Amino acid sequence: MTVPEHLNQVTSPRLSFELLPPLKGSSIETIFSTLDKLMPFAPPFINITYHREELIYQKLEDGTLKPRIVRKRPGTVGIAAAIQAKYKVDVVPHIICGGFSKAETEDALIDLDFLGISNLLVVRGDIDKIQGRFTPNPQGHRFASELLEQIMDMNRGIYRDHYVDNPIKTKFSAGVAGYPEKHPESPNIDEDLHFLRLKVEKGAEYIVTQMFYDNQIFFNFVKRCREAGITVPIIPGIKPLSTKEHLYMLPRTFSLTIPPGLVKEALRCKSNSEVKEAGIEWTTAQIKELFDNGYPLIHLYTMGQGDNIAKISKNVL
Ligand code: FAD
Repeated sequence: MTVPEHLNQVTSPRLSFELLPPLKGSSIETIFSTLDKLMPFAPPFINITYHREELIYQKLEDGTLKPRIVRKRPGTVGIAAAIQAKYKVDVVPHIICGGFSKAETEDALIDLDFLGISNLLVVRGDIDKIQGRFTPNPQGHRFASELLEQIMDMNRGIYRDHYVDNPIKTKFSAGVAGYPEKHPESPNIDEDLHFLRLKVEKGAEYIVTQMFYDNQIFFNFVKRCREAGITVPIIPGIKPLSTKEHLYMLPRTFSLTIPPGLVKEALRCKSNSEVKEAGIEWTTAQIKELFDNGYPLIHLYTMGQGDNIAKISKNVL
């Protein structure tokens, strides 16, 4: 089933979960052990993020720095297929512009189609941490809206490789990312909403939001989306706070705000395990309020933390 079909069928509160591929060299069992804790909560679908290669500088013995390209978390397509086969649940692999040429994207989409995977979350991809900006592949896409165009073209049987004979029409259903506190690179919220609307016009059927810690910020975002003519479903994305460092890292990385009440709670904690408990309590209250306000499906960013996500799920379902 596609995510919009799931959304149409949701009658009672549900949670979907987003997983990261394990670090290179780890076993897929790390994913399965997280999912074993979460599948009892009957998620309608599971998302799997995609991570492009990164430039890192390795320090050599003589003190000089050697640049190296590494992909720390490969395997999204394989993991998605493995989860689908093992748990008989719909999967939503993320597909990104960063690091892909259009031809490579076409091949990845063909793989996903062969695997019977029709849900995609279409995003541009993160910035290069060293350069501090996003650099597209010279033969790739600069924005998620351009990647969406390629996917929707394949749904119409139009491939980038024009030598394909009698191409089949794929049946991808695409969601995109939205930012309740605006995307960090966007000059203002109206500009950001303009490009969010463009993604919907290009074929996105729903939006999953960046994390937020104050529901009022989300409610205001939905209102502004509706005023801007964006009518597709908006799924709230939530990530529980679990370390004191999150108080500073999350605002720095994602340009989001953490409400004074949560900051106070976290700072009062003597250890990160106490912060985790405070995060569980905050997220539980946040999700209950979202359910009460007519959002029956909430997307949880797990970051591989099956235990606290399972506790939150137990609290709210
Ligand atoms: P876009 O929609 O392309 O927008 C990027 C910026 O460009 C915005 O500021 C936008 O306003 C602006 N913009 C858009 N179109 C245009 C245009 N035509 N002209 C000028 N400006 C424009 N990252 C990963 O690497 N892997 C993942 O799996 C992943 N999953 C994610 C899942 C969710 C739910 C979310 C919220 C984020 C995810 N990200 C992921 C992070 C995401 O890649 C970054 O937030 C990225 O910086 C932006 O992606 P986007 O798809 O929103 O980009």
